[in-house]
Amino acid sequence: MEMQKIGVIGAGTMGNGIAHVFAQAGFDVVLNDIKAEFVERGMTTIAKNLQRGVDKGRMTEGDRDNVLQRVHSSTDLNDLSGCQLVVEAIVEQLEIKRDLFKKLDAILEPEAILASNTSSISITKLAAVTNRPDRFIGMHFMNPVPVMKLVEIIRGIATSDACYQSIADLTHRINKTPVEVNDFPGFISNRILLPMINEAIFALFEGVASKESIDEIMKLGMNHPMGPLTLADFIGLDTCLFIMRVLHEGLGDDKYRPCPLLVKMVDAGYLGRKTGKGFYDYSS
Ligand code: NAD
Repeated sequence: MEMQKIGVIGAGTMGNGIAHVFAQAGFDVVLNDIKAEFVERGMTTIAKNLQRGVDKGRMTEGDRDNVLQRVHSSTDLNDLSGCQLVVEAIVEQLEIKRDLFKKLDAILEPEAILASNTSSISITKLAAVTNRPDRFIGMHFMNPVPVMKLVEIIRGIATSDACYQSIADLTHRINKTPVEVNDFPGFISNRILLPMINEAIFALFEGVASKESIDEIMKLGMNHPMGPLTLADFIGLDTCLFIMRVLHEGLGDDKYRPCPLLVKMVDAGYLGRKTGKGFYDYSS
Protein backbone atom coordinates (compact mmCIF):
# COMPACT_ATOMS: atom_id res chain seq x y z
CA MET A 1 0.00 0.00 0.00
CA GLU A 2 1.39 3.39 -1.02
CA MET A 3 1.71 5.72 1.99
CA GLN A 4 0.59 9.25 1.14
CA LYS A 5 -1.59 10.56 3.93
CA ILE A 6 -0.56 10.15 7.56
CA GLY A 7 -2.73 10.88 10.60
CA VAL A 8 -1.18 12.03 13.88
CA ILE A 9 -3.37 12.09 16.98
CA GLY A 10 -2.31 14.34 19.84
CA ALA A 11 -0.65 17.66 18.97
CA GLY A 12 1.44 17.88 22.17
CA THR A 13 5.20 17.54 22.69
CA MET A 14 5.56 14.40 20.57
CA GLY A 15 2.60 14.69 18.17
CA ASN A 16 3.57 18.04 16.68
CA GLY A 17 7.13 16.78 16.16
CA ILE A 18 5.85 13.62 14.43
CA ALA A 19 3.55 15.68 12.17
CA HIS A 20 6.51 17.98 11.41
CA VAL A 21 8.84 15.19 10.25
CA PHE A 22 6.21 13.49 8.07
CA ALA A 23 5.22 16.79 6.41
CA GLN A 24 8.87 17.70 5.89
CA ALA A 25 9.37 14.37 4.09
CA GLY A 26 6.54 15.28 1.68
CA PHE A 27 3.57 13.44 3.21
CA ASP A 28 0.13 14.95 3.68
CA VAL A 29 -0.56 15.01 7.40
CA VAL A 30 -3.78 15.32 9.41
CA LEU A 31 -2.95 16.56 12.92
CA ASN A 32 -5.80 15.83 15.33
CA ASP A 33 -6.41 16.79 18.97
CA ILE A 34 -9.48 17.08 21.19
CA LYS A 35 -9.62 20.88 21.06
CA ALA A 36 -8.85 23.34 18.24
CA GLU A 37 -6.64 25.39 20.57
CA PHE A 38 -4.43 22.31 21.22
CA VAL A 39 -4.03 21.70 17.48
CA GLU A 40 -3.22 25.39 16.96
CA ARG A 41 -0.60 25.25 19.70
CA GLY A 42 0.96 22.26 17.94
CA MET A 43 0.90 24.08 14.58
CA THR A 44 2.58 27.11 16.17
CA THR A 45 5.35 24.89 17.54
CA ILE A 46 5.88 23.30 14.11
CA ALA A 47 6.08 26.78 12.51
CA LYS A 48 8.56 27.92 15.18
CA ASN A 49 10.77 24.88 14.73
CA LEU A 50 10.71 25.20 10.93
CA GLN A 51 11.60 28.90 11.25
CA ARG A 52 14.72 27.87 13.15
CA GLY A 53 15.74 25.89 10.03
CA VAL A 54 15.15 28.99 7.88
CA ASP A 55 17.18 31.19 10.25
CA LYS A 56 20.08 28.74 10.11
CA GLY A 57 19.96 28.68 6.29
CA ARG A 58 18.90 25.00 6.18
CA MET A 59 15.61 25.67 4.36
CA THR A 60 14.02 28.49 2.39
CA GLU A 61 10.89 30.37 3.44
CA GLY A 62 9.14 28.67 0.50
CA ASP A 63 10.10 25.22 1.83
CA ARG A 64 8.82 26.20 5.27
CA ASP A 65 5.47 27.31 3.83
CA ASN A 66 5.14 24.13 1.76
CA VAL A 67 5.72 21.95 4.83
CA LEU A 68 3.15 23.93 6.85
CA GLN A 69 0.59 23.66 4.05
CA ARG A 70 0.87 19.87 4.15
CA VAL A 71 -0.30 19.75 7.81
CA HIS A 72 -4.10 19.88 8.11
CA SER A 73 -5.71 20.68 11.47
CA SER A 74 -8.47 18.42 12.76
CA THR A 75 -10.64 17.89 15.82
CA ASP A 76 -12.85 15.25 14.19
CA LEU A 77 -11.59 11.67 14.01
CA ASN A 78 -13.51 11.12 10.75
CA ASP A 79 -10.95 13.42 9.05
CA LEU A 80 -8.50 10.51 9.38
CA SER A 81 -10.57 8.12 7.26
CA GLY A 82 -8.34 8.34 4.15
CA CYS A 83 -5.04 7.87 6.02
CA GLN A 84 -2.86 4.85 5.25
CA LEU A 85 -1.18 5.19 8.67
CA VAL A 86 -2.28 6.82 11.93
CA VAL A 87 0.30 7.46 14.66
CA GLU A 88 -1.21 7.97 18.11
CA ALA A 89 0.63 10.34 20.50
CA ILE A 90 -1.98 11.12 23.18
CA VAL A 91 -1.75 10.88 26.99
CA GLU A 92 -0.05 7.79 28.41
CA GLN A 93 -3.23 6.16 29.75
CA LEU A 94 -4.25 2.68 28.71
CA GLU A 95 -8.03 3.13 28.77
CA ILE A 96 -7.97 6.42 26.84
CA LYS A 97 -5.67 4.94 24.20
CA ARG A 98 -7.77 1.76 23.90
CA ASP A 99 -10.93 3.78 23.46
CA LEU A 100 -9.28 5.83 20.71
CA PHE A 101 -7.96 2.76 18.86
CA LYS A 102 -11.41 1.14 18.91
CA LYS A 103 -12.85 4.24 17.24
CA LEU A 104 -10.00 4.49 14.71
CA ASP A 105 -10.36 0.84 13.80
CA ALA A 106 -13.95 1.49 12.76
CA ILE A 107 -13.08 4.63 10.75
CA LEU A 108 -9.97 3.58 8.80
CA GLU A 109 -9.76 1.39 5.70
CA PRO A 110 -9.08 -2.24 6.67
CA GLU A 111 -5.57 -2.20 5.15
CA ALA A 112 -4.46 0.97 7.00
CA ILE A 113 -1.84 0.62 9.75
CA LEU A 114 -2.27 1.82 13.34
CA ALA A 115 0.80 2.87 15.34
CA SER A 116 1.30 4.03 18.91
CA ASN A 117 4.08 6.27 20.20
CA THR A 118 3.56 4.94 23.74
CA SER A 119 6.63 4.95 26.01
CA SER A 120 5.62 1.94 28.02
CA ILE A 121 2.15 0.52 27.36
CA SER A 122 2.01 -2.95 25.77
CA ILE A 123 1.53 -2.79 21.99
CA THR A 124 -0.07 -6.23 22.12
CA LYS A 125 -2.65 -5.00 24.64
CA LEU A 126 -3.54 -1.96 22.51
CA ALA A 127 -3.70 -4.02 19.32
CA ALA A 128 -6.08 -6.50 20.95
CA VAL A 129 -8.99 -4.00 20.97
CA THR A 130 -8.81 -3.68 17.17
CA ASN A 131 -9.67 -6.03 14.33
CA ARG A 132 -6.21 -5.49 12.82
CA PRO A 133 -3.60 -6.68 15.37
CA ASP A 134 -1.42 -7.77 12.41
CA ARG A 135 -1.41 -4.15 11.19
CA PHE A 136 -0.71 -2.61 14.59
CA ILE A 137 2.79 -1.55 15.65
CA GLY A 138 4.76 0.68 18.04
CA MET A 139 6.61 3.68 16.60
CA HIS A 140 8.47 5.08 19.59
CA PHE A 141 9.93 8.43 18.53
CA MET A 142 12.45 10.22 20.73
CA ASN A 143 12.12 13.76 22.06
CA PRO A 144 12.71 16.24 20.39
CA VAL A 145 11.36 14.41 17.35
CA PRO A 146 12.73 16.68 14.57
CA VAL A 147 16.25 16.25 16.00
CA MET A 148 16.51 12.65 17.21
CA LYS A 149 17.35 9.96 14.64
CA LEU A 150 16.03 6.86 16.42
CA VAL A 151 12.57 5.35 16.07
CA GLU A 152 12.21 2.22 18.19
CA ILE A 153 9.84 -0.01 16.20
CA ILE A 154 7.93 -2.37 18.48
CA ARG A 155 6.37 -5.55 17.19
CA GLY A 156 3.29 -6.73 19.07
CA ILE A 157 2.67 -10.47 19.30
CA ALA A 158 0.56 -10.39 16.11
CA THR A 159 2.36 -7.68 14.07
CA SER A 160 2.95 -9.10 10.58
CA ASP A 161 6.28 -9.06 8.76
CA ALA A 162 4.67 -6.98 5.98
CA CYS A 163 3.51 -4.36 8.48
CA TYR A 164 6.95 -4.21 10.14
CA GLN A 165 8.69 -3.86 6.77
CA SER A 166 6.34 -1.15 5.59
CA ILE A 167 6.91 0.90 8.78
CA ALA A 168 10.68 0.34 8.73
CA ASP A 169 10.80 1.58 5.09
CA LEU A 170 8.63 4.56 5.96
CA THR A 171 10.91 5.45 8.88
CA HIS A 172 13.86 5.64 6.47
CA ARG A 173 11.78 7.92 4.20
CA ILE A 174 11.42 10.44 7.05
CA ASN A 175 15.21 10.34 7.55
CA LYS A 176 15.10 8.38 10.76
CA THR A 177 16.66 5.06 11.73
CA PRO A 178 14.25 2.24 12.65
CA VAL A 179 15.43 -0.29 15.23
CA GLU A 180 13.33 -3.41 15.76
CA VAL A 181 12.36 -4.62 19.23
CA ASN A 182 9.78 -7.02 20.62
CA ASP A 183 6.94 -6.01 22.89
CA PHE A 184 8.08 -6.24 26.53
CA PRO A 185 7.68 -3.68 29.32
CA GLY A 186 9.71 -0.53 28.63
CA PHE A 187 10.83 -1.97 25.25
CA ILE A 188 14.64 -1.42 25.08
CA SER A 189 15.10 2.33 25.51
CA ASN A 190 13.17 2.75 28.75
CA ARG A 191 14.05 -0.69 30.14
CA ILE A 192 17.70 0.37 30.19
CA LEU A 193 17.44 4.15 30.67
CA LEU A 194 14.93 4.28 33.52
CA PRO A 195 16.63 1.76 35.85
CA MET A 196 19.83 3.80 35.39
CA ILE A 197 18.00 6.99 36.38
CA ASN A 198 16.33 5.16 39.31
CA GLU A 199 19.74 3.90 40.47
CA ALA A 200 21.11 7.46 40.34
CA ILE A 201 18.18 8.53 42.57
CA PHE A 202 18.96 5.65 44.97
CA ALA A 203 22.60 6.82 45.10
CA LEU A 204 21.40 10.30 46.06
CA PHE A 205 18.86 8.87 48.54
CA GLU A 206 21.55 6.78 50.25
CA GLY A 207 23.94 9.75 50.45
CA VAL A 208 26.59 8.19 48.21
CA ALA A 209 27.19 11.55 46.52
CA SER A 210 25.56 14.92 45.89
CA LYS A 211 23.26 15.40 42.88
CA GLU A 212 25.92 17.52 41.19
CA SER A 213 28.58 14.83 41.72
CA ILE A 214 26.32 12.06 40.39
CA ASP A 215 25.55 14.04 37.24
CA GLU A 216 29.18 15.12 36.74
CA ILE A 217 30.48 11.54 37.06
CA MET A 218 28.06 10.24 34.42
CA LYS A 219 28.81 13.18 32.09
CA LEU A 220 32.58 13.17 32.30
CA GLY A 221 33.12 9.50 32.99
CA MET A 222 30.56 7.92 30.67
CA ASN A 223 30.35 10.66 28.07
CA HIS A 224 26.61 11.15 28.65
CA PRO A 225 25.45 14.52 27.29
CA MET A 226 23.61 15.21 30.56
CA GLY A 227 23.62 13.60 33.99
CA PRO A 228 20.82 11.18 34.98
CA LEU A 229 19.23 13.53 37.54
CA THR A 230 19.18 16.43 35.06
CA LEU A 231 17.70 14.04 32.50
CA ALA A 232 15.03 12.89 34.99
CA ASP A 233 14.00 16.53 35.51
CA PHE A 234 13.82 16.94 31.73
CA ILE A 235 11.67 13.82 31.20
CA GLY A 236 9.41 14.64 34.19
CA LEU A 237 9.62 12.77 37.50
CA ASP A 238 5.98 11.62 37.22
CA THR A 239 6.78 10.02 33.85
CA CYS A 240 9.90 8.38 35.31
CA LEU A 241 7.85 6.95 38.20
CA PHE A 242 5.12 5.75 35.85
CA ILE A 243 7.61 3.87 33.67
CA MET A 244 9.39 2.33 36.69
CA ARG A 245 6.00 1.05 37.88
CA VAL A 246 5.33 -0.48 34.45
CA LEU A 247 8.71 -2.26 34.60
CA HIS A 248 8.18 -3.37 38.21
CA GLU A 249 4.70 -4.71 37.60
CA GLY A 250 5.30 -6.07 34.10
CA LEU A 251 8.55 -7.89 34.84
CA GLY A 252 7.68 -8.80 38.46
CA ASP A 253 11.24 -8.22 39.67
CA ASP A 254 12.05 -6.05 42.70
CA LYS A 255 15.18 -4.77 41.02
CA TYR A 256 12.78 -2.38 39.25
CA ARG A 257 11.21 -1.00 42.45
CA PRO A 258 10.99 2.81 42.24
CA CYS A 259 13.27 4.64 44.68
CA PRO A 260 11.24 6.01 47.66
CA LEU A 261 12.79 9.45 47.03
CA LEU A 262 11.34 9.47 43.51
CA VAL A 263 7.90 8.57 44.92
CA LYS A 264 8.17 11.30 47.57
CA MET A 265 9.17 13.96 45.06
CA VAL A 266 6.23 13.11 42.80
CA ASP A 267 3.90 13.19 45.85
CA ALA A 268 5.22 16.68 46.61
CA GLY A 269 4.55 17.87 43.05
CA TYR A 270 8.28 18.29 42.31
CA LEU A 271 8.05 16.97 38.77
CA GLY A 272 11.16 18.56 37.22
CA ARG A 273 11.42 21.35 34.66
CA LYS A 274 7.70 21.49 33.96
CA THR A 275 6.88 22.48 37.58
CA GLY A 276 10.01 24.61 38.10
CA LYS A 277 11.40 22.17 40.68
CA GLY A 278 12.79 18.66 40.58
CA PHE A 279 16.27 17.60 41.61
CA TYR A 280 17.28 21.10 40.52
CA ASP A 281 15.51 24.45 40.77
CA TYR A 282 14.18 26.01 37.56
CA SER A 283 12.10 28.79 39.12
CA SER A 284 14.34 31.53 37.75
P1 NAD B 1 1.48 15.77 25.73
O1 NAD B 1 0.72 15.84 27.01
O2 NAD B 1 2.48 16.84 25.42
O3 NAD B 1 0.45 15.72 24.50
C1 NAD B 1 -0.66 14.85 24.47
C2 NAD B 1 -1.72 15.48 23.59
O4 NAD B 1 -2.73 14.51 23.36
C3 NAD B 1 -2.40 16.70 24.24
O5 NAD B 1 -2.37 17.78 23.33
C4 NAD B 1 -3.85 16.21 24.48
O6 NAD B 1 -4.82 17.22 24.34
C5 NAD B 1 -4.00 15.17 23.39
N1 NAD B 1 -5.04 14.18 23.65
C6 NAD B 1 -5.35 13.58 24.80
N2 NAD B 1 -6.37 12.69 24.61
C7 NAD B 1 -6.72 12.76 23.30
C8 NAD B 1 -7.68 12.11 22.49
N3 NAD B 1 -8.50 11.20 23.00
N4 NAD B 1 -7.74 12.43 21.18
C9 NAD B 1 -6.90 13.35 20.65
N5 NAD B 1 -5.94 14.00 21.38
C10 NAD B 1 -5.85 13.71 22.69
O7 NAD B 1 2.15 14.31 25.73
P2 NAD B 1 3.48 13.83 24.97
O8 NAD B 1 4.66 14.07 25.85
O9 NAD B 1 3.46 14.37 23.57
O10 NAD B 1 3.25 12.25 24.97
C11 NAD B 1 2.38 11.62 24.05
C12 NAD B 1 2.73 10.15 23.95
O11 NAD B 1 4.09 10.01 23.55
C13 NAD B 1 2.61 9.38 25.28
O12 NAD B 1 2.14 8.10 25.01
C14 NAD B 1 4.04 9.35 25.79
O13 NAD B 1 4.30 8.25 26.63
C15 NAD B 1 4.80 9.22 24.47
N6 NAD B 1 6.21 9.66 24.50
C16 NAD B 1 6.57 10.82 25.12
C17 NAD B 1 7.90 11.23 25.09
C18 NAD B 1 8.33 12.53 25.74
O14 NAD B 1 9.53 12.74 25.93
N7 NAD B 1 7.41 13.44 26.04
C19 NAD B 1 8.86 10.46 24.42
C20 NAD B 1 8.45 9.29 23.76
C21 NAD B 1 7.12 8.89 23.81
